[in-house]
Amino acid sequence: MDIYGSPNPQKIKVIVFDFDETMYFSPSIKVEYNEYIKRTVMALSNLTEEETLLLMDKLGFTAGGEKRLSFTKNCESFGVSKHAWDEYRLKNFFEIDYSKAQIAPNALYQNLAKKYVLYIASNEVLDNVLHKAKRLGIDLAPFKEILAPSPKTLHTYQSKEQSFMAIQQKEGCHFDEMMMIGDRYNVDIKPLEDLGGHGVLVQNTNDIVSFFKSF
Ligand SMILES: [Mg+2]
Repeated sequence: MDIYGSPNPQKIKVIVFDFDETMYFSPSIKVEYNEYIKRTVMALSNLTEEETLLLMDKLGFTAGGEKRLSFTKNCESFGVSKHAWDEYRLKNFFEIDYSKAQIAPNALYQNLAKKYVLYIASNEVLDNVLHKAKRLGIDLAPFKEILAPSPKTLHTYQSKEQSFMAIQQKEGCHFDEMMMIGDRYNVDIKPLEDLGGHGVLVQNTNDIVSFFKSF
């Protein structure tokens, strides 16, 4: 766990959670996700398996944890358009192994919501977030809103940067009153840090529990 900025429990007003691999953790997920990306690229581009694997390695799609990049931001480098990727992932949803996944207790979010405004900002399609939350048993009621691409707005891709700006506008708060909890520094934490906000980089849901124990 790494803390960015200096989040002060008295000053923070809004806490934003990344969803995938932050609000649940599964030890085998990174390997499974890379397999999924390989299948996706081979289905949507003209690349061979060997070319796909070489490019994945070059662009950081390895099982190397938080350094992994956003496929949405990089799909065009694989010869896959954002449109094709969005359509594909709605029909070929990346299912996680729910039996191995760990989540933080729902009471943690319920208690936080008494003091802070909670949001989820995800690059995953909204329907898929809702589906996974249900399967995992994550209670989404404590969250004011989930900012994620949806079938209605699918082709207006919403980046984390845009989500932070939208939340700041909605809440009328300052960026330094916002804190992001996520599993990838470049994708989740840095965009808010650059705006003046705070962040906690977590490796699994136990990190979330231990961070908020002393927050
Ligand atoms: Mg994530």
